[in-house]
Amino acid sequence: MNRVSLLSCALLTLFLTGCNQSDTATTKEIYAMDTVMQLTAYGASAQNALDEAESQLLALENAISRTRPTSQVSAINTGTGAVEADDVVVELLRSALDYSHATNGAFECTIAPVVDIWGFTTDDPSVPSAEDLSIAMGFVGSEFVTITDNSICVEPGSAIDLGGIAKGYAAQVVADVFQQQGISNAMVSLGGNVYVCGGRTDGDPWRIGVQDPNNLSGFAGVLSLSDGFAVTSGAYQRYFEEDGVTYHHIIDPQTGYPAQSGLISVTIVSTTDGTLCDALSTALYVMGEADAIDFWRSGVYDFDMILVTDDGRVVVSSGIADQFEADGAYTYEVIS
Ligand code: ADP
Ligand code: MG
Repeated sequence: MNRVSLLSCALLTLFLTGCNQSDTATTKEIYAMDTVMQLTAYGASAQNALDEAESQLLALENAISRTRPTSQVSAINTGTGAVEADDVVVELLRSALDYSHATNGAFECTIAPVVDIWGFTTDDPSVPSAEDLSIAMGFVGSEFVTITDNSICVEPGSAIDLGGIAKGYAAQVVADVFQQQGISNAMVSLGGNVYVCGGRTDGDPWRIGVQDPNNLSGFAGVLSLSDGFAVTSGAYQRYFEEDGVTYHHIIDPQTGYPAQSGLISVTIVSTTDGTLCDALSTALYVMGEADAIDFWRSGVYDFDMILVTDDGRVVVSSGIADQFEADGAYTYEVIS
């Protein structure tokens, strides 16, 4: 029995009032990267665009899946020597290492040995012994990864996990396909990694529901967005229970344990960069509210955020404050 509970729709694109009756949506649902992906596009080239997006998503999964023995990432993770990787793998890994550096290790793509010791990629996760955890922690660190041109090498025992960044990158891949195919209105949710463009065909922005971590059938709020990416990380997305304690899949690289930062959901919004959104949703979840706000204020990256705290507040950065309606169950705070 699969003991990892998976709830893949932390962000839902909402058809609250729908589009014009005359505009026909073309949709596709794909199961890839361990999640359900829903793609909707409008216009004459929609079917072509969705087909092309699907083939690119499946190719990406083939290259970077950590659970597929034939993937390039699996070959890299055997730790038996350098692997000549495709540009896409090199680009994604370079970005992941950059985000590790920029977030002071809160995002850590070499966390794989620790994720493995918890069994998060298996059907039977469990709490590791302190000794096993400390051994796994010894293999975590970007110093164990070397990239020379397209050749990637990890030290034996170390391994890379692009799971914290992959779906955001995938959303970007879809966005590029849509742009090339001249799609003017679309919305995509790759397991809660949302990309929208052009607003709805009636001219209104898309409405994106941020799931309420305390009531999974409700929303902590709704974001209006015409063009851009929105990605949520939440403890409630993938977790297991042992001896009455819940353990989730976002690891604090400093402790090796699931992050307990006081945040229960982090949504990152960017008009241009889906990969950034995914990396930072994981990183800021680990950082906690105070460091996340400092990070946003530092201006290192251009993004906005919606933080849901475990004491019932929704904290939104000023750039999207007028695009966000919080649910009444939460105290709403805007930071600038
Ligand atoms: P999801 O994949 O559920 O959308 P995230 O984007 O937050 O959620 O990514 C979580 C995944 O990233 C985990 O399943 C694991 O593979 C990996 N991961 C866990 N902790 C970290 C971390 N601190 N830094 C980078 N990746 C992480
Ligand atoms: Mg992420």
